Amino acid sequence: MSFSSPPEEALDSLVAVLDTVRSGGARTRPELGHRLGLGRTVVTQRVAQLLSSRLLAEDSYALSTGGRPARVLRFRAEAGNVVAVELGATSMAVGISDLSGELLDSVEESADVSAGPEAVLGRVETLIDGLLSCRSRRERQVWGVGVGLPGPVSYSSGIPIAPPIMPGWDGYPVRRRFAERYEAPTWVDNEVNLMALGERRVGLAKDERDAVFIKIGTGVGAGLLSAGRLHRGAQGAAGDVGHVSVVDDAAVVCRCGNFGCLEAVAGGAALGRLATDAAKDGSSEFLANRMAENGVDELSALDLAEAAAHGDRFAVEAFGRTGRYIGGMLATLVNFYNPSLIIIGGGVANVGDLLLASIRQTVYSRSLPLATRDLRIARSALGDKAGLYGAALAAIDELFSRQHLPQWIGDGSPAGHPEIADDATAA
Ligand SMILES: [Zn+2]
Repeated sequence: MSFSSPPEEALDSLVAVLDTVRSGGARTRPELGHRLGLGRTVVTQRVAQLLSSRLLAEDSYALSTGGRPARVLRFRAEAGNVVAVELGATSMAVGISDLSGELLDSVEESADVSAGPEAVLGRVETLIDGLLSCRSRRERQVWGVGVGLPGPVSYSSGIPIAPPIMPGWDGYPVRRRFAERYEAPTWVDNEVNLMALGERRVGLAKDERDAVFIKIGTGVGAGLLSAGRLHRGAQGAAGDVGHVSVVDDAAVVCRCGNFGCLEAVAGGAALGRLATDAAKDGSSEFLANRMAENGVDELSALDLAEAAAHGDRFAVEAFGRTGRYIGGMLATLVNFYNPSLIIIGGGVANVGDLLLASIRQTVYSRSLPLATRDLRIARSALGDKAGLYGAALAAIDELFSRQHLPQWIGDGSPAGHPEIADDATAA
């Protein structure tokens, strides 16, 4: 492929043209030129290269006024597939997406991440293989893999670093494992970062540049969007808010080994313990009955939510208190960081309105008026699929980035080139 402009500039404009069509920013050559400030010849050349690479396609429409038919460009989302993986503390989900990030198929099941990487990733691979075997032969070629893990991840190496709830995972080469098995470039990130990315690209944060995604599940974590991009921090640990200290009580022991952490009082595991204790010590008749009816000796956050929905005083107070803990932490973030949107997701966030109401009230009453003037607090639009969308989109964005697209576009596909992800930098 020959370029009339210098190679670096030609690659810049190639990526820009593809991005603009891909994001719906322009559909015709004149629109591209106008939008990107590029001359007609440059636009024509870049579009020609993208058409011959089969990343763009061209459809013709006859105009009602006669004359030459209009030619409309579209991104060929069907050109390839990516694999998305999301691991939570107690669940796993895998999916296959097209290149627009649309999930074509997905499956999820409960899991225990503390069983270690061999057992957990072995099961993940079985689920992926199952999904792939249902696709056509061409669709079984994997262009990329995106993986979310429930702990801190070094984004550049794709390796989890001292994750507090994942024994056996510290330093495990997650990227290498998927890259070798599927012969495709693989990117690994913290699952909450990926949920934030999913909301940014196809969910509630589409038009927001500064937003926080807070996941309240078994654990608690946050993904930060700053100036439209994920803020991962120097080591990829940004947003690990589950382990900020909220109570000065040595009796509140967290699974990270510290005490008084937010997660240890407001996470799903903590709420389940609260429900269990209340059933046993007579603080809640509803929960005591629930335990007896179900013949179990442990209750979950879900039981506590049902008790609250029935007006059980203990449960209502527990959710009010939990909301104040989480809201207090979020108020600190709001004052510090001034997002325009807080998205609340995760299993516990979906159990009722009581928790959300308490979080809202605390954030608005404890943040600076200027910081909350246009602040929205809303429940995740993507629900339990946020992490899968984010994992797929993370891989797709990397594949089409200025850094990586030139590495594979000459071959027509990144499938079979796992080394593309080796020099990942925190984008
Ligand atoms: Zn902790």
